[in-house]
Amino acid sequence: MMSKHFHYLNNQLHAEQVPLEKIASLYGTPCYVYSRAALTESFRQFSDALKGREHLICYAVKANANLAVLNVFARLGAGFDIVSGGELQRVLAAGGDAGKVVFSGVGKTRDEMRMALEADILCFNVESAAELARLNEVAGSMGKKAAISLRVNPDVDAKTHPYISTGLKQNKFGVAYTDAIDLYRKAREMPNLKITGMDCHIGSQLTETSPFIAAVEKVLWLVDELAKEGIELEHLDLGGGLGICYSDETPPAISDYIAALLSALKGRTQKLILEPGRVLVGNAGLLLTTVEYIKPGEEKNFAIVDAAMNDLMRPALYDAYHEILPVVREEHEMQTYEVVGPICETGDFLGHERELAIAPQSKLAIMSAGAYGMSMSSNYNTRPRAAEVMVDGDSVHLVRERETVQQLFAGEKIVV
Ligand SMILES: *Cc1c(COP(=O)(O)O)cnc(C)c1O
Repeated sequence: MMSKHFHYLNNQLHAEQVPLEKIASLYGTPCYVYSRAALTESFRQFSDALKGREHLICYAVKANANLAVLNVFARLGAGFDIVSGGELQRVLAAGGDAGKVVFSGVGKTRDEMRMALEADILCFNVESAAELARLNEVAGSMGKKAAISLRVNPDVDAKTHPYISTGLKQNKFGVAYTDAIDLYRKAREMPNLKITGMDCHIGSQLTETSPFIAAVEKVLWLVDELAKEGIELEHLDLGGGLGICYSDETPPAISDYIAALLSALKGRTQKLILEPGRVLVGNAGLLLTTVEYIKPGEEKNFAIVDAAMNDLMRPALYDAYHEILPVVREEHEMQTYEVVGPICETGDFLGHERELAIAPQSKLAIMSAGAYGMSMSSNYNTRPRAAEVMVDGDSVHLVRERETVQQLFAGEKIVV
């Protein structure tokens, strides 16, 4: 869906005050374009709704890890939810505060634990008994105490795509609800751990409030059980997962989602941590592409564009829908197209059955591509990754140069 920061003026699609046609001619295509105002606005919706409540908004870096995006959030006071040592290094390089970082993920290596302990992150979201033991050992070897929360799996149905549902007991994430109390008891006995919170994250692209509330209620039951044993928690981390509108979804507004959480948390004084990703960046970005060929088929017309599944994987991976808009409203015959990339895979499509008035060289904007777009991109078919641009009012900043083919095989060797 259109963010108000992407709009038509004189039949030209703009990002804030800049025509996208100009960005395409300056930096070429495919090119991701982000609106700083849109990023700022979505973050402020969270912080405004949470005013008066002790909280930390930890942006989930994996949704879009560009340093410029991270820096916009860091300046607004964000913390960060990371899932790898690499993401920690990005956060630090972008000016983020390690003391506001929570570290999630089921497979943290010893090296990653060391790096995070060295940086003094806020908290490890521990996902298994084995990880608890390893973290205790690594922290001990460094003479440090690691702050932990357990990521509990509340076994609630997020009612989202199965690939992005994480809070069901058959998923690999978190510790089983029924094991959580026992693991907290074990953690309490470990000398190099400090229990500070509890965490849950039930999935992504949720469009209803009820699964979040069901998860909060299950988390609170555990919190109360722990309190009876003298284990008091400083914070509750309710994860991310709030959905956005790609076409006709009707997710709750950020303010309504927060209001529902706060009401479920009534009377609780723990600091509230949230880990939003998609909802902060998804509709703040788009992917610019150029029509290379129009190929009329026997059954379908194809618009072959210069962006592909390596640039934006979501359609191929989840059959996801992205709105596709003309960058300039031109006078061509309106036809129904399959919008596809040049990659040698039938799954390489960006949109099915789209009504478009286009010709070769027309530019298209693939909307709602700010989340899980560039961050999931690859070099499949030896395609250099796209450039990334951030618009701020009437100025345009190249925030990542287009990759070169030389960079792609710079680390490779021929065996003689
Ligand atoms: C991916 C992820 C998030 C962010 O999810 P969104 O749906 O993008 O909000 C938050 N927390 C954890 C642990 C994650 O893995």
